[in-house]
Amino acid sequence: MGKTTRREFVRTTGAGAVGASPARGSPHVPPRMSASDGPYDVVVVGAGVFGAWTAYMLASQGRRVAILDAYGPGNARASSGGSTRAIRMGYGDQEIYTRWAMRSLGLWKSLATPAGAPPVFQQAGVLWIARGEDPLTTKTLAALHKLGVVHERLDRAELDRRWPQIAFAPEAWAILEPESGFLLAFHAVQTVVRLARAEGADYFQESVLPQNGSSRMTSVETRSGKRIAAGEFVFACGPWLPKVFPELLGDRIFPTRQEVFFFGPPSGDARFQSPAMPVWMDFGEEIYGLPDFEGRGFKVAPDRHGPAFDPDTGARIVTSETLARVREFVGRRFPALKDAPVVLGEVCQYENTSNGDFLIDRHPEQDNVWLVGGGSGHGFKHGPAVGEYVAERIAKGGPVEHRFSLATKEKIQNRAVY
Ligand SMILES: Cc1cc2nc3c(=O)[nH]c(=O)nc-3n(C[C@H](O)[C@H](O)[C@H](O)COP(=O)(O)OP(=O)(O)OC[C@H]3O[C@@H](n4cnc5c(N)ncnc54)[C@H](O)[C@@H]3O)c2cc1C
Repeated sequence: MGKTTRREFVRTTGAGAVGASPARGSPHVPPRMSASDGPYDVVVVGAGVFGAWTAYMLASQGRRVAILDAYGPGNARASSGGSTRAIRMGYGDQEIYTRWAMRSLGLWKSLATPAGAPPVFQQAGVLWIARGEDPLTTKTLAALHKLGVVHERLDRAELDRRWPQIAFAPEAWAILEPESGFLLAFHAVQTVVRLARAEGADYFQESVLPQNGSSRMTSVETRSGKRIAAGEFVFACGPWLPKVFPELLGDRIFPTRQEVFFFGPPSGDARFQSPAMPVWMDFGEEIYGLPDFEGRGFKVAPDRHGPAFDPDTGARIVTSETLARVREFVGRRFPALKDAPVVLGEVCQYENTSNGDFLIDRHPEQDNVWLVGGGSGHGFKHGPAVGEYVAERIAKGGPVEHRFSLATKEKIQNRAVY
């Protein structure tokens, strides 16, 4: 990525737009660390969505920040790689995630994007498909109502009327979030890192060596032999966290192999693009999808956790077994795509915690080291809120939210957050 100046960016909306330096000089930002703590205030290891937003928030507050990534921002191995990610507000009764998604949506919408590039947020709407008695969806409905998220409850007849290209199950009903949609993932991460650099952050393509120290961290060492010093360190290494902290996180973050398929509608058939097609989720079948965007195909992906996966060396080729299952579902739910070709297949990994809650905590023995990850298949949308939260904890200190703490991360998987 080339060095970028702020002038190259345009804001996508007016009030509250980010891409400027809102907090620079703000009274609660403490002064920089002393020179003896190193040239940087904060080193952020990992330029996925969590690290990128953390670095950007810190740099916007006037901190001297270095961002390090082994393969590049939003690289093809990263959990934040790929073209698109859904952003929904509904989270059952897990209100903190609804609030964070609301906060993040505002920040994504106001993100300054390079001139000529599409906005990173695409307002396609999100359709949460339920059936019969469905406690998760009923709780979601209550939470959206309570927190003031614009939504509609749709019965089966209304679903058929609005989306005749979808063959809903007989007992289906749904929630529509018309103001939600999807994010252009790779493009978004690259944009946030560019903005962080425009705020003065330095970016280095470097791989940081595994950590096992217990005394206060003063620097990180890279595979190429560089040593980079700072006062604080944020490790936002996604599915690599178990490799970077093998003793601490080796059995607390579970990377799983996830397959994604893109089906090609016939030329000129706009029924599978926005605005005719929203983002949709069918929790009963553990599958979700996104509209065809820029001709890349109609995205369909199982949400059920796959087998364990190595983010460095795992083969990223989809399997015929998963394709057969996905094609059976597509033929049933989207009959017009029954024989549509797969135009693209991707393998990515979730970096699951035991129950799906994020990990955002200080290292138990090194209080200037932050562990940030555990996106668990739903983290992308929350990047802005995660970055803001970490930057604020670094600035102000104080305890972290209990559910994000390392202490709550079990060694067995028992998914509870979707
Ligand atoms: C198929 C799939 C679909 C998903 N769908 C959605 C969705 O629709 N909506 C949603 O909100 N979320 C979704 N998610 C989840 C979301 O994408 C992730 O939770 C999120 O991207 C995690 O970001 P991260 O920054 O923690 O990790 P990553 O993006 O993996 O970033 C970690 C970075 O750290 C770097 N790194 C690792 N080790 C080192 C080292 N030693 N030195 C230097 N750098 C290092 C890596 O190169 C990488 O760039 C999905 C995930 C997948 C895989």
